[in-house]
Formats: sequence, C-alpha cells, structure tokens
Amino acid sequence: MSRYTDAVCRVCRREGMKLYLKGDRCYTDKCAIERRSYPPGQHRVMKRKQSNFSLQLREKQKLRFIYGIQEKQFGLTFNRAEKMKGATGVNFISLLERRLDNVIYRLGFANSRAEARQLVKHGHFNVDGKKVTIPSLTLKKGQVIALRRQSEKVKQALEASGKRERPVWLDLNASDLQGIIKELPTREDVTIPIEEKLIVEFYSR
Ligand code: SF4
Repeated sequence: MSRYTDAVCRVCRREGMKLYLKGDRCYTDKCAIERRSYPPGQHRVMKRKQSNFSLQLREKQKLRFIYGIQEKQFGLTFNRAEKMKGATGVNFISLLERRLDNVIYRLGFANSRAEARQLVKHGHFNVDGKKVTIPSLTLKKGQVIALRRQSEKVKQALEASGKRERPVWLDLNASDLQGIIKELPTREDVTIPIEEKLIVEFYSR
C-alpha cells in the first residue's frame, strides 16, 4: 500500500481527533479540527453505532497515521511486538515510539514525524557517531542521536518545539544538538490517546 498523500487534516477530521500530522499548524487555531470538527465529505454522515470490527480498525488506522507508517511495516512491527516478553500492545507502542524518526520529532529537531523522516532519509543525523538514513531504526537505551550539521530548519523546529511536552525518557542537549535515550519508554510515557487493546484484537482476528 502506498503512503497516504491526500490532505492530512482530512484524516484527523475523519477520526474526530487531533493526530498532530502537520507540525506547527496543529498548535494554532488554523487547525482544521478547531474550525470544522465534523467528518470530511459533501454530505455529513449521521453517526451510526460502530461494530467491534470498525472500532478496532479505526484505532489501528489512527495509530498508523500518527506514526506515518505503511500498512505492511506496521503489521511487521506488530509481529515483532508479539514475540517480545510482556503485553503485546505495550511492546507495540514502545517499538513505534523508539523509531528514529519519532525520537527526532520528540526531541524537537523536526515539526512533525513526516519532516523527521525526511531529515533522516537525507542523512542529517548520526546515531552513536555513525550516519543513519533509516527512519524506522529502533533505538536502544543509551544511544546518542546527533545532528550532523547545523540547519536553519532544525533551529526553527527546536524553537517551536517548546510548545510540546518533552518526553521524560529522552534527554536533549540543545547546545550540542544531540539527544540521548535515557530510558526505554513505558506506556505511561506515551500520552497518545490510543486503546492498544483494540489494535491487539484487530490483529488477533
Ligand atoms: Fe490534524 Fe494538525 Fe491538521 Fe489539526 S492541523 S487537523 S491536528 S493535521
């Protein structure tokens, strides 16, 4: 399945919540959810009772859009989570959260995960001193992520990131333009409003 290229605000409106896909704009009153908090489309659909399957599917899609991952890779990450010790849903969220593109966004080096992904692909970051161009790389405790060269875009993103909550499991050294994975994220550290139980049920059908 190809990457979603339509207007991303439509996704938020369809899911009925802010998924923060557009960076800085999401924190302003220009956000489409603030202006039009009803689903997109010409005819507004009457709210119907959702089936269990529909609830599970929507939850899965929400999480997939938040992290901007294609269907196949999302499923493979879930399979990885299933093989780990502990609760699959929690492992799954932890694996998604530890992706290099997400960590760069969380540290504030990018305004959105999509922007972070592009920066990684263009070789702007080192992990433990080595250039990495794989946005899906899963980071481990103690790893150091550093910007390879100063950039105006990253500087602006760092300034704007003050509006966002910085995760406690990450440590940012803004003057050296680097961040460290202090701890692995727990479920409590990931505040996105997702019921991972529904996603586990979706994949267990
Ligand atoms: Fe979603 Fe951001 Fe668009 Fe608001 S501005 S609808 S949060 S993508």
